[in-house]
Amino acid sequence: MIVLKSPVEIEMMREAGRVTAVALRLVGEAVRPGITTGELDAIAEEYIRSQGAKPAFLGYHGFPATLCTSVNEQVVHGIPGKRILNEGDILSVDCGAVVDGFFGDSAMTFPVGMVSAEARALMDATQTSLEAGIAKMRPNMRLYDIGAAVQQVAEAAGFSVVREYVGHGIGRAMHEDPQVPNFGQAGRGAQLKPGMVFAVEPMVNAGGFEVRSLDDGWTVVTADGSLSAHFEHTIAVTEDGPVILTVE
Ligand code: MG
Ligand code: MG
Repeated sequence: MIVLKSPVEIEMMREAGRVTAVALRLVGEAVRPGITTGELDAIAEEYIRSQGAKPAFLGYHGFPATLCTSVNEQVVHGIPGKRILNEGDILSVDCGAVVDGFFGDSAMTFPVGMVSAEARALMDATQTSLEAGIAKMRPNMRLYDIGAAVQQVAEAAGFSVVREYVGHGIGRAMHEDPQVPNFGQAGRGAQLKPGMVFAVEPMVNAGGFEVRSLDDGWTVVTADGSLSAHFEHTIAVTEDGPVILTVE
């Protein structure tokens, strides 16, 4: 069942979105060759707690950190720690915060210093695919209109969208109905209504769409070792169109 949020609840979700967005920006500003993913995690946790908010991922199914930090061929759910970032890496950072019981969820991929043309193109296409998906989040559109738009942009750029992990409804729980795939056939699925709030989060691979999990039980990598990028926003469907909540 898709839980509809009232305008007042959407306003409350804006604050969780704002805290998430600022934390991500602060992490992005700190990304440079030589910093560890653990240091970036500490920056995010400190900011989130300074706002009276809680990290959404810490302790979620036992996840041990505030951020998911996924480097290069890592797709999602990488665990921050001692890994040192190198010039030319790309780093996907996923961040969530809880304020007054409501969740915000957002992700971005950052370049570490100068990156390859392929990495730059992958990041740009992933971000553009997210924007294309968000543009479909209007009343009377269909759920799969979102994923179809994401897939079209990613594949037109020569990349592939991950199938095994998808976006989701979000509100008083981080993961609510429905699942929001980043692929599919336009015109299918639930009709979108004002008050629906989704986290849309394309994970786009430079090579094939297949992924596998590492032995740490969390980190997801591309099966072929190709680069992967991840962009995510939390967005409300309103009468006036999509409203991105994970912004400052
Ligand atoms: Mg996320
Ligand atoms: Mg999410």
